[in-house]
Amino acid sequence: MAEELTEYSGPATMEKITSLAKRRGFVFQSSEIYGGQNGAWDYGPLGIELKNRIAANWWKEMIQLHDEIVGLDAAILMHPRTWEASGHVENFTDPLVDCKKCKTRFRADMIPDENLASKTCPECGGELTDTRKFNLMFRTHIGPTEDNAGLIYLRPETAQGIYVNYKNIIQSNRMKIPFGIAQIGKAFRNEIVTKNFIFRTCEFEQMEMQYFVKPGTDVEWFNEWKKRRWAYYEKLGVKMDHLRWHQHGPDELAHYAKDAYDIQYLFPMGWRELEGVHNRTNYDLTRHTEFSGKDLQYIDQDNNNDRYIPFIIETSAGLTRTLLMLICDAYDEEKVGDKGDADDWRTVLRFHPLVAPVTIAMLPLMKKDGLAELAQDIRNELKEDFATDYDQAGAIGRRYRRQDEAGTPFCVTVDYQSKDDGTVTLRYRDSMEQVRVPRAGLAEKIRQEIKAYKRK
Ligand code: ATP
Repeated sequence: MAEELTEYSGPATMEKITSLAKRRGFVFQSSEIYGGQNGAWDYGPLGIELKNRIAANWWKEMIQLHDEIVGLDAAILMHPRTWEASGHVENFTDPLVDCKKCKTRFRADMIPDENLASKTCPECGGELTDTRKFNLMFRTHIGPTEDNAGLIYLRPETAQGIYVNYKNIIQSNRMKIPFGIAQIGKAFRNEIVTKNFIFRTCEFEQMEMQYFVKPGTDVEWFNEWKKRRWAYYEKLGVKMDHLRWHQHGPDELAHYAKDAYDIQYLFPMGWRELEGVHNRTNYDLTRHTEFSGKDLQYIDQDNNNDRYIPFIIETSAGLTRTLLMLICDAYDEEKVGDKGDADDWRTVLRFHPLVAPVTIAMLPLMKKDGLAELAQDIRNELKEDFATDYDQAGAIGRRYRRQDEAGTPFCVTVDYQSKDDGTVTLRYRDSMEQVRVPRAGLAEKIRQEIKAYKRK
């Protein structure tokens, strides 16, 4: 086995990623004109395309390719008893300390032990407060009065929406164990420390799949889902030496979990969690049975109507965190010239074409002589099947660079020859190779290229 990387050594830095994301319209700071809102971000035209495609790809991998997994879109606002049953009201806390001098707030588990022991601030050396527990759930009120009767939470995870619907789904869709329910949606956590761009935010999106299995088969399914989730990243073309497993030790393991592994990715700031694969046992459904008074046992009609509370294997990935991972993973700087100026280098996002925000950019060599019209005409034809862009401004080399930076895998250039013989130039983002192809076979060729795509 290859030795594990200890440090990120690629060309990306969080500063470069943040600045490119803003410049090209992937991600903007929320409410920027008011000075920004901490922990919240807005996804611009390229960002929302990327996010939608990651979500669609995950949905396909989870639902379309698995006969026994179905989808759900549960409400963000849930009955407050849900969060008592799940243990979030009691346990979903971070340990918090403040510096009395510089007023910086820290998560106690994120500062060095010696600072905690000596109660000195790691930033300014001032005195730290005692550690106190801080619940990460956002609270609000439903109805006209702000009293406890109307207290309600913004969901801190999408999983509970799945558990409370598990019986509905068995009944409406005649599901048989083992089966899964998948959901993509917003979650909210009042995070104390929100640095590293969109890595840890207060409002974010999750892609979760809960797999219901017979007790006793849980270890086998847990291992199976670990394999499947690893294969998912392989298929996405991610640098596999930037991924590793991290098993939760006894001090990290949630009280309900029998075993838990995180898939970590080597971001420019180091190894960080990307996704969790957890064996949650029968904890959640047992608790919801107790708190709701409803019988949540599964009746196994194929086995003498055996009754049991299923075990749950969870795969829980952050959608917005995956988006950050994919930008970092795709980011590259390549020397492409020898003139001694800035044009010698290009910045390129080597996204898999399945998730790239724009698949094809149409670029007429000139605006005049009917080339722009011809390019528009071809674009209109391709639009039905692909996400396209059109750019006629500036030198062709510059336009290629702009598309490289947006991660567009294919550019199509229309020139005078196109008018004569109906061919166009197809330019590949990664190799910058250009080939002449007939317009008539263009869509099919690109479809084939996407299917066969392998990152170099
Ligand atoms: P951490 O320990 O980093 O706070 P966690 O272990 O509590 O995270 P989970 O509850 O397992 O995270 O959430 C599943 C996934 O949701 C994470 O792997 C991550 O991708 C994503 N996620 C969790 N919290 C955030 C956040 N504040 N911002 C963005 N994504 C998040």
